[in-house]
Amino acid sequence: MKKMNATPIQKLNQKLNNNNFYIKRDDLIPISFGGNKARKAILFFDDIKLKGSDCVVTYGSSSSNHCRIIANIAASKGMACYIISPTESSKDTANSKMINLFGAKIIKCPVSEVSDTINKKIKELIDKGYNPYFIQGGGHGNLGTQAYVDVYKEIRDYESNEGIHFDYIFHTSGTGTTQAGLICGHLLHGDDKKIIGISNARKNPYGGQVVLNSVNSYLSSIEKEQVTNKEVVFIDDYVLDGYGSYNDDILNTIKEILIIDGIPLDTTYTGKAFWGMKEYIKKHKITNKNILFIHTGGTPLFFDDLEEVYE
Ligand SMILES: *Cc1c(COP(=O)(O)O)cnc(C)c1O
Repeated sequence: MKKMNATPIQKLNQKLNNNNFYIKRDDLIPISFGGNKARKAILFFDDIKLKGSDCVVTYGSSSSNHCRIIANIAASKGMACYIISPTESSKDTANSKMINLFGAKIIKCPVSEVSDTINKKIKELIDKGYNPYFIQGGGHGNLGTQAYVDVYKEIRDYESNEGIHFDYIFHTSGTGTTQAGLICGHLLHGDDKKIIGISNARKNPYGGQVVLNSVNSYLSSIEKEQVTNKEVVFIDDYVLDGYGSYNDDILNTIKEILIIDGIPLDTTYTGKAFWGMKEYIKKHKITNKNILFIHTGGTPLFFDDLEEVYE
């Protein structure tokens, strides 16, 4: 696909410890409601074209931003899209409704059988003469990492154009590809920015280890030296009861940003991490810094929250 323009960075009205807060609007990427999964998907579909694949196979839950975007782009190209989806998380959401609207073929199975089901589907497609392209859940993998190496460059370009320096980059960390890309960007440029991934679900040591593995996998793909876990700041203090859990402070944070800055966040990813960022800043007494938060998208989840959470 055509290379996209850099997403906007804007200053927030948020006040805490005399820090300046900025937000990078990856939620405004102009494909399928944007977000980090759109960033990654653009690179995956370039690769699909390169490899001449004619259908795509991926997996994720019914609320998956990744599956919505892959299904949307596949539909726009008239390409069949198969989504393996765990029965355990198959409630109706804005994303699941759109995935159906795009005509993706959903294959439900228990979470323990997801990997077997994927392999079976891929084999079946190959046997029928198709050339399927497999994308890991959440757009995990070196291409997904590349997407956020590119973002790091966008941030540095913004800094030199605007004469500003960001001391910290905060963002929601899930499967860890977004964080891995930012860390690789930071390592390749050798600058002093601190990248803090606020986990929305995974705990350490697993969560941080996956980020580190992604970093090293990317670095070895471009023939750079491996790094150790001291390069990874994966904060699991704010996951509460895990994926999808939230508290009143998160709801208040989301309301505040929506009202004061007009930006939607959600309880599963961005709102949770924004709240976690503020707690982290208080705990570590961070003052007088320029802080950039990356809005990784998930706008449809905001509307799920609106129906279920704010009643
Ligand atoms: C998937 C997702 C994340 C997590 O990104 P990873 O690269 O998996 O760490 C963060 N925010 C939103 C809105 C997402 O959909």
